[in-house]
Amino acid sequence: MSLTFTPVIGIEVHIQLKTKSKVFCKCGTDYTNDPPNSHVCPVCMGLPGSLPVLNRSVVQQGMLAGLALNCHILPTTFFFRKSYYYPDLPKGFQITQSDLPIAAEGWLEIHDDAGKLKKIRINRLHLEEDVGKLHHSTTDGRLEGASTSFVDYNRSGLPLAEIVSEPDVSSAREAVEYVTSLRRRVRYSGASDVDLEKGMMRFDANVSVKCSDGRWGKRSEVKNMNSFRALERAIEYEIKRQSKILADGGEVSQETRHWNDAKGVTTGMRVKEFYRKFIVEPDLPPLVVSSHWVDETRARLPEMPIERAARYEKDMGLSETDAAVLTDSIDVARYFEDTVKSGANPQRAGNWVRTEVLRFVNEKQISVDDLTVKPASLAELLARVESGKLSTTQAKGVFEEMLTGLSIEDAIKKTGAVEGGVGAGALLVLVKSILAANPDVVEEIKSGKDTKGKKVKFLQGLIMREAKGQAKPDEAASAIEAALKDE
Ligand SMILES: [Zn+2]
Repeated sequence: MSLTFTPVIGIEVHIQLKTKSKVFCKCGTDYTNDPPNSHVCPVCMGLPGSLPVLNRSVVQQGMLAGLALNCHILPTTFFFRKSYYYPDLPKGFQITQSDLPIAAEGWLEIHDDAGKLKKIRINRLHLEEDVGKLHHSTTDGRLEGASTSFVDYNRSGLPLAEIVSEPDVSSAREAVEYVTSLRRRVRYSGASDVDLEKGMMRFDANVSVKCSDGRWGKRSEVKNMNSFRALERAIEYEIKRQSKILADGGEVSQETRHWNDAKGVTTGMRVKEFYRKFIVEPDLPPLVVSSHWVDETRARLPEMPIERAARYEKDMGLSETDAAVLTDSIDVARYFEDTVKSGANPQRAGNWVRTEVLRFVNEKQISVDDLTVKPASLAELLARVESGKLSTTQAKGVFEEMLTGLSIEDAIKKTGAVEGGVGAGALLVLVKSILAANPDVVEEIKSGKDTKGKKVKFLQGLIMREAKGQAKPDEAASAIEAALKDE
């Protein structure tokens, strides 16, 4: 009988909370483009005699993130000193709430590998401070082989929330869905920008494997993943590695392992766990949160993506895909809802935001809030499509011009789109889009196979139909001729 192996996985996610200053001092959190060690003070450098003062907005953001993950908030919690010695931590201990957290017993829903809904329980969300960053003199930035190392304490004291799941995750794919959903909800709440490229979200995974013959390997804690892809690969690697050991009759030992992204392997970190010593932080009083403050924070929490998508489907008749895309980020969801509130048909607005608006936003790498076309103007444009004054193709041309800052009237003039008729400019835009949609027909005409002119007639028909009878056949024919020459 062949053995089967069931992975048992717990995920720890570190996110950087969005605040103006660090967790225990007044140093700023935004040091992008600033030199190393330019955002430091005696507190975040851990100088003797300096005293930490808890930043109220860190507590606020931590609660917000906890509530977004369906946790409850604990009224009284404490901070501890977690002692360890390493150059990235000058005072020799990290201040953390550890297992007496501000938020506990939450959950998230994901799909298991069979597609069924499954709850991943969240043990806790606790607050802690980040440590400094080491730069080693090697080309790959790794410690091995480095002759010199530098420490940058700008990151030291940034506010972190560590979110610890129960071991409910059963595969690398589930892990990725879990962290994707977690990230989306936290971003919605406004507690963190969770920008992966800026290191605002990092992962550790506790992986163990249960064998069908009853043996259960000890867990390994894999560290150093900072992208979804790295998390997925590291877990896959670890499952394979542990299954093979068990299949060969060996024993998996409990250890901390380091994910090497370049090599695609995990390696044992030969570090003894001597540092997990906690004492209560004597310089900080217990953290007491009033129920009034919790209620106030809960009221600030926006409607979450899953609930929002369900509402779009149910109340507005949107497809599941459209609803999912529109609710992926809260600014897009708000832009869409404002367009509908301005009178647009929800399905048409959903379709436009999903295609035209997002295409432009993604291409220009901007936020939808920075678009020159505000929801009310988009609604106005769509109303003209709805009433038949503009065809969809004309409206797309007009929209392009509006994106450059033109008003709807000026954009209509510029494209030559005559409402209720087709101007020369708009006709050309229309012809080009139809040619682009029918490359095989264009090819036949250009290669001279269309001796009887049937294919040209076919394109002409498409144009007349799209122009809703507002274009003259001979104008359409000459526009096709002109556009084909341009090809
Ligand atoms: Zn400081």
